[in-house]
Amino acid sequence: MIIFGWRVVFFTLSRGVFHCPECGGDREYRRRYGRNFFSLFFIPVIPLNKSGGEFVQCDTCKGRWNTGVLEIPTTAELAQMPAMLLRMAVSQVLRSGDPAHQGARRRAVTVVRQAGDAGYDEAALDGDMGRSFDQVRAEMARASSALAPEARESILRAAAEIALADGTLSVSEEETLAAVGTDLELTRVQVTGVVSLARQSSGH
Ligand SMILES: [Zn+2]
Repeated sequence: MIIFGWRVVFFTLSRGVFHCPECGGDREYRRRYGRNFFSLFFIPVIPLNKSGGEFVQCDTCKGRWNTGVLEIPTTAELAQMPAMLLRMAVSQVLRSGDPAHQGARRRAVTVVRQAGDAGYDEAALDGDMGRSFDQVRAEMARASSALAPEARESILRAAAEIALADGTLSVSEEETLAAVGTDLELTRVQVTGVVSLARQSSGH
């Protein structure tokens, strides 16, 4: 007697760490997809069509999720976000003004260190200033929604103070602050308010 039929075989495409909605924490995952196989004596022999789409499976609870679940920031990423956003905001502003200004550079390194990135230095700052604008903006947009408005305003405030470290704001510094404010999901009114507060305290 020949026993035949079909069965689904799962393939792992990649692995990583994600925030599992079921476990409520950071867990290892496998990104997988299933494929139907014609089987003989329960052994898959001939690959047939794909079975459904890709999915993400939690290694701990075995829960399966749509790949969109990978967009949720992990707890480890969340802890890094204020310093990371600050890095991006200050480097965007610094390179739109005078990237070599010593006072502004020192201030940028200090605020990022205070935000929790203790190892940040001028070499890292130069690295941040060398990144592509589009990449930075995409990362900022993703990270911003996870932070409270007060935290986002304080990041813009720090960036504005760095832009003001070399004197009055140039047109390109103002434009960059407006763009950074947009990436931080702040309204125009919020951006104007934060920048004018920074102006008052700097005296420029
Ligand atoms: Zn889980």
